[in-house]
Amino acid sequence: MTTTAATNMLKLTINDQTVEVAGGATVLEAALAAGIAIPTLCHHPLLEPSGGCRMCLVEVDGARGGLITACSTPAVAGMVVRTNTERVRTARRDVLELLLAEHPLDCLTCERTGSCDLQDYAYEYGADGKTIAGAAYPPAAVRPDMVDGTNHFFVRDLDKCILCGRCVKICAEVMGYGAIDFVSRGAQTKVTTSFDVPIEQSSCVFCGNCITICPTGALQPKQGARQGRSFQYDKVRTVCPYCGVGCSINLHVRDGRVIGSSAAEGPSNRKLLCVKGHFGHDWIQSPERLSTPLIRGEDGELREASWDEALDLVARRLVEIRDQHGPDAIGGLCSAKVTNEENYVFQRFMRAALGTNNVDHCARLCHASTVAGLALSFGSGAMTNSYWEFEDSDAFFIIGSNTTETHPVIAAVVERARQRGATMIVADPREIEFAARADIWLQQAPGSDVALLNGMMHVILAEGLADQEFIAARTEGFSELEAKLAEYPPERAAEISGVPAEDIRRAARAYAAAGSAAILYSMGITQHTTGVDNVRSIANLAMMTGNVGKYAAGVNPLRGQNNVQGSCDMGGLPGNFPGYQLVGNDDHRAKFEAAWEAELSPTPGLTVIELLNAAEAGQVKAVYIMGENPMVSDPDLTHVEEALRSLDFLVVQDIFMTETSALADVVLPSASYAEKDGTFTNSERRIQLFGPAVAAPGQARADWEIICDLAGRVGHEMNYPGGTAEIMDEIARLTPLYGGVSHARLAEHDRRGLQWPCPDAKHPGTPFLHAGKFSRGLGQFAAVEYRPPAEVPDDEYPVVLTTGRILYHFHTGTMTRRSAGLGAHVPEGYIELNARDAADAGVGDGDMVKVTSRRGSITTRARVIEGIAPGVTFMPFHFAEAAANVLTNSALDPTAKIPELKVCAVRLEAAGAGGDA
Ligand code: SF4
Repeated sequence: MTTTAATNMLKLTINDQTVEVAGGATVLEAALAAGIAIPTLCHHPLLEPSGGCRMCLVEVDGARGGLITACSTPAVAGMVVRTNTERVRTARRDVLELLLAEHPLDCLTCERTGSCDLQDYAYEYGADGKTIAGAAYPPAAVRPDMVDGTNHFFVRDLDKCILCGRCVKICAEVMGYGAIDFVSRGAQTKVTTSFDVPIEQSSCVFCGNCITICPTGALQPKQGARQGRSFQYDKVRTVCPYCGVGCSINLHVRDGRVIGSSAAEGPSNRKLLCVKGHFGHDWIQSPERLSTPLIRGEDGELREASWDEALDLVARRLVEIRDQHGPDAIGGLCSAKVTNEENYVFQRFMRAALGTNNVDHCARLCHASTVAGLALSFGSGAMTNSYWEFEDSDAFFIIGSNTTETHPVIAAVVERARQRGATMIVADPREIEFAARADIWLQQAPGSDVALLNGMMHVILAEGLADQEFIAARTEGFSELEAKLAEYPPERAAEISGVPAEDIRRAARAYAAAGSAAILYSMGITQHTTGVDNVRSIANLAMMTGNVGKYAAGVNPLRGQNNVQGSCDMGGLPGNFPGYQLVGNDDHRAKFEAAWEAELSPTPGLTVIELLNAAEAGQVKAVYIMGENPMVSDPDLTHVEEALRSLDFLVVQDIFMTETSALADVVLPSASYAEKDGTFTNSERRIQLFGPAVAAPGQARADWEIICDLAGRVGHEMNYPGGTAEIMDEIARLTPLYGGVSHARLAEHDRRGLQWPCPDAKHPGTPFLHAGKFSRGLGQFAAVEYRPPAEVPDDEYPVVLTTGRILYHFHTGTMTRRSAGLGAHVPEGYIELNARDAADAGVGDGDMVKVTSRRGSITTRARVIEGIAPGVTFMPFHFAEAAANVLTNSALDPTAKIPELKVCAVRLEAAGAGGDA
């Protein structure tokens, strides 16, 4: 017996080799740890082992019958295992022969040939599917009822299914949907949907993780079908361009074209993806991509131009406007969709070349409240912990985040923990997927979060559940909060939020009682005129219970776009240089002035909405937009259009013509993520390096190259002959958070990336923040008073509209609506509403409804659902032709200057009513 209580390690012998593993490891895990391969078909590290396929049989001395399944048998001290004896090989060959007896031997025409586990094992073990008498599968047999290709994303061919169950288990155990299962018995057994309906009609969300995990060709993506087998194309690993999770994907490249995509093993996603990351990259090859610079001619039309002509014009006009009206008559929007290096050169261009701090971007509209609020409470405005820590969390409080739709891979980690017993508390005005799965669902009224959170904290304090030791040692300002909380007994919180007082008590107790409780939130919290108050209340709750600065807990803002964290880190903010160094701080400014050899303004610039207001007022004359589409993403679009049209000069740099570039004087074509290199920083602060897969279309160039070329033309040389690696070196020199980051380091260790803070070249990065000490020293409590939204329902506009994202589309739809599968699956916008509101408006499910706010009207399709309270409606904002942001309110949070995209008051009428719909 070699187990020691001190380490809980044990020793066993595998193939005459002594192997030491932690107690609880399986024989398979022990073998893998020793570098010994054992074949598997039903096993996968993300799934609970079942031992169903018997491919992992190994011989163990003393075991009954001698053979055991390695994947489901715990390693025992002193165990003697042999993985490759003749007996083992014969048993595995027999397993394969049985599988092949019912499997079409059509490898010559199968898409999966060359990347099929069954094919590889058959070759390795000499199985040919002909040794079982009378059972050989008829060659080329086709049973049409076994093939389902009715959805937009993949084909399921049950003829090739070996019933390993991986797809069933990943759908249930990891994604939490259970869209498929085994049905029937014996030879009739098959994997299918409930009632055997087509997949399109099931609860499948088309994440494609079943395809990734399938060991045969039973599941195949439609995109790229018949364009090449795995050995005929290159797989180029990159980072998903959509949400802030930062999943690793492979682009499949053949003959210089992206023909498909698949999941890659990455540090943040562990080979999981959602539908967008799996199937949403075909737009890269779209004929609609911008490929030539465009200049608006005297006839008012955009015409093609050379780069020299376009950039000379941009440089000349910007210099003229700066010289005539001053540098602050120019503003720029950088982008949460382009790289760190590109955002860095953009803000340097605005500050050093043009002399203004008027640089901001879409982060203002999503997580400005987080950046400001968490900086005040903790000293750092970012996600405190890492996604995969959540596997070990005891409880989750998810508020204002529709995680399964907006951050599906993080949702999968949370779901695994939930299935293993973690408590889930969800606060959301709608019955989102997680609300349906939660232990406690708090259906708060939109905009009532501070009251709800104060009510929960009141209970925690009153019932002695606060972590007084943590409060005393790690924080300040608690007495002021304590006094404020006295005003919020759960009954008062219930009155404001609409959540029953007893549910507030249950949620408070469940959160406070957990050993490690993680808060996850997103734009349901931040996009309010009380956004900073909401964030500070969340920080109060976490600090009060000692849930910050430790593993598997924390305050975790989930970022909406793939580089929104990085674009903020890079100084794409009007008051901050890279690394949140202040433009108003003399030391910080002196450092950047020396590095950039330029005089810099000490005055913080204008935020997005302020910039547009200033444009309409005639104070801002020129705006340069890189990779943003405010004509769909910003609130009160009528006002946005008026502001942009009132400019003397508008430049838009993008990959497609958008609703915004259609208004531009100059349009510059840029390369997409698939055509350039650089880094993105995801929600868990992980900086990831990626490279190009294909060439950019036509004359399109990387954003950083365009900006550097332009900078020289306005007299500020920005030369980086070493490319983006050299830009990152400059970032590291000037930005303490990124001090130890370089492309060379990021390329190491299978591109696992680095999580900031990473202050020097030896620092390994930081998985969770504030251990032992907050970034600001002591955590700062804030006594937060509830304030109602800026616009509440009244007789004229009696219904609340809240807006957000959906699983199948991203942001302003520029990319996903040009993706064949995504575009076809959800082709148009809609409004979700309760049956009572639908009846009041005189509309039924599927009817067109006119929605009017104080700022405008749109017409869209009604979806009458149960999971939304009377008086509340929801619209996704991705659809330009019925843009939710025509309706939304641009009232701002006073600190973060984020608009109240989550609450406005509207009126509903059947389309046709009111005369103009
Ligand atoms: Fe891409 Fe986000 Fe989906 Fe991951 S979860 S595949 S990053 S959209």
